[in-house]
Amino acid sequence: DDLSNKIAAGEVVERPASVVKELVENAIDANSTVIEVEVDEGGLSRIRVLDNGDGIENDDCLTAFRRHATSKIKTENDLFRIRTLGFRGEALPSIASVSELELKTSTGEGPGTHLKLRGGEILIHEYTSSRKGTDLTIENLFFNTPARLKYMKTVNTELGNVTDVMNRLALAHPDVSFKLTHQGRQLLYTNGKGDVRQVMAAIYGMAIAKKMIPISIESLDYEVTGYISLPEVTRASRNYMSTIINGRYVKNYGLAKAIQQGYHTLLPIGRYPIVLLNIQMDPLLVDVNVHPAKLEVRLSKEAELFELVEQTIKASFKKQRL
Ligand code: ADP
Ligand code: MG
Repeated sequence: DDLSNKIAAGEVVERPASVVKELVENAIDANSTVIEVEVDEGGLSRIRVLDNGDGIENDDCLTAFRRHATSKIKTENDLFRIRTLGFRGEALPSIASVSELELKTSTGEGPGTHLKLRGGEILIHEYTSSRKGTDLTIENLFFNTPARLKYMKTVNTELGNVTDVMNRLALAHPDVSFKLTHQGRQLLYTNGKGDVRQVMAAIYGMAIAKKMIPISIESLDYEVTGYISLPEVTRASRNYMSTIINGRYVKNYGLAKAIQQGYHTLLPIGRYPIVLLNIQMDPLLVDVNVHPAKLEVRLSKEAELFELVEQTIKASFKKQRL
């Protein structure tokens, strides 16, 4: 119901950046190859996500806004077989309950659906044109939850968070073309051609992308690929160490530590490398259902993975010096 949506929103939808993350992940799950995100005022006044994915069937549009109605989890075992980014059927109902939302979506066959909701209440529900894909606009986020609204930071801070989210999604999905614009100004563009170096160049600039060296290693359980910056390219923040497990951006303290240990004595105190780690593993070994935003994960056999990461970083520096 209305209240439980609002409560869930408190967990899933913390700020504009969380809305962007959930909507873009939905677009990725729907097999989109081009995803455009427009935000105004750091996303506080408007967020639009436009994709060219599968679209939503007319009959499924209302269900998508009912909590857990679309959950892909039916049994406890399903929790460990998650291959899509979304799985709880929670994001759309939560976002809709705390904003003004407009949806245009079509599978490309027959007419599409046009929906308008305010605080979760349906204002418009009609047929629309059939351009394949989904076009979602969120306006006035948290207009009906003043306590939450008070917690929003400056436009610049919110925009920074949105940019971070977009950068990570772009790094995790080089085969999807992403565009981010803020008040009409383009902040990110990736070409979707599967070239991680192009994505890094788009995010960090060409000069830095050129100072990233590739890594690649595998064990029975893990396949690790990615890029790490040479020790001369460091940052004063851990934020530039991106770890992606099975296409999902995650935070894992142990992984961050393994990366730093791979650098051994090469890092000045308080400095961190720019790193992109792409880890493929059996989904059975990852538990993503730890955190509402699915950011933190629990790993089985994590010691093996940490060792692998540390070793491959050390090895790649040795190679560099030869
Ligand atoms: P979840 O992603 O956990 O399934 P959401 O609330 O995020 O739940 O989305 C509900 C459902 O709406 C999804 O399962 C999907 O079927 C549909 N959906 C949402 N966004 C899109 C999109 N951009 N393209 C196609 N289908 C979408
Ligand atoms: Mg989702």
